[in-house]
Amino acid sequence: MSENENIWVFAEQTDGRLAGVVPELLAKARELGKKTGGSVMAVLLGDDIEKIPSELFSYGAEGVIEVESPNLKDYRPVPYALTLRTLVEKRHPSILLFGATTVGRDLAPRLQAKLLTGLTADCLDLGVDENGILIQTKPSYGDNIMCQIICPNTKPQMATVRPKVFSPMERIEDAAGPVVREEINLPDDESYQVIGRSTADIRETSIADAKRLVCIGRGACAEETVETARQLAGELCAALGVTRPLTDSGQFTHDDQVGQSGTTVKPKLIINFGISGAVQYTVGMQNSELIISVNKNEDAPIFGISHYGYVGDAAEFMTELTGALKGYKK
Ligand SMILES: Cc1cc2nc3c(=O)[nH]c(=O)nc-3n(C[C@H](O)[C@H](O)[C@H](O)COP(=O)(O)OP(=O)(O)OC[C@H]3O[C@@H](n4cnc5c(N)ncnc54)[C@H](O)[C@@H]3O)c2cc1C
Repeated sequence: MSENENIWVFAEQTDGRLAGVVPELLAKARELGKKTGGSVMAVLLGDDIEKIPSELFSYGAEGVIEVESPNLKDYRPVPYALTLRTLVEKRHPSILLFGATTVGRDLAPRLQAKLLTGLTADCLDLGVDENGILIQTKPSYGDNIMCQIICPNTKPQMATVRPKVFSPMERIEDAAGPVVREEINLPDDESYQVIGRSTADIRETSIADAKRLVCIGRGACAEETVETARQLAGELCAALGVTRPLTDSGQFTHDDQVGQSGTTVKPKLIINFGISGAVQYTVGMQNSELIISVNKNEDAPIFGISHYGYVGDAAEFMTELTGALKGYKK
């Protein structure tokens, strides 16, 4: 099979730890590869990275292309983009995927400009047509519609994809495959140096990682209802998320917002209170495993994507459920 059909996934890592989005991209790439006939290759750059390929294989990579160099220890835009450019020009993959992380969002456009090809940023879905052309779905026109973008005339077809949009494959223990080690002469890059690192102030329960979420919208934003929602979240060991009106009003911060311009979430359980189900909200949570919604309007669109629904008052339902859970624990 020609390398020209291959699908590459940028295996973003920090200090030997893969970014969470990488297994998600590998799973999607495998799905695309079944249709295009291309192999899924993880592209790994860094230093002291010998343990990572086995992890990439366990998440579905069919091969790993690796460049190890002290110059690639920390992410730096110039050596990373130069390395990827050299690899792409040598091996000509058909598709190249990045996570829409801080690194992916910085690196992908730099590479795209060097390769004079197209890049679709912040995709929410990917598919391929019968000719192997990548169909890249992303919000457009002020985020009001979803559009499908293709890049039929140049290769590679490049996309960044939001974390949590795709599900990783079941981990395959002891999976193995070919590791292609490339040596690339990298010029010193003095324009950008890492002078220190500090950990961001990460909350105990970020909505992105929460297994359970209680989400409230405009129909549940009264002060006392918010307080009950916090109690319910506490009882369920859940994080509390909100719709955009609650961040616009200053009641909550952007970190709390679920949706297209907030965070994409995929918990095992999400309970929506007083949320209408606007597309800008649902695209950020519709892949959750179990969706329960409470809304006083039986025609609210949120019920269309919910597994269970209750038509009634959000605050009343919340209070009853919180009380029942307290009783249940005793
Ligand atoms: C570019 C752009 C990006 C956006 N990004 C996001 C985003 O990331 N996330 C996001 O959430 N929104 C986003 N929005 C806003 C989005 O379009 C909606 O306006 C928003 O999601 C609506 O929030 P809501 O459901 O809380 O409020 P509403 O749409 O006002 O719905 C309130 C719901 O509460 C119900 N209700 C009222 N009282 C009660 C009660 N007592 N008990 C039970 N139910 C009750 C009502 O029936 C109604 O269905 C974006 C918009 C744009 C234009």
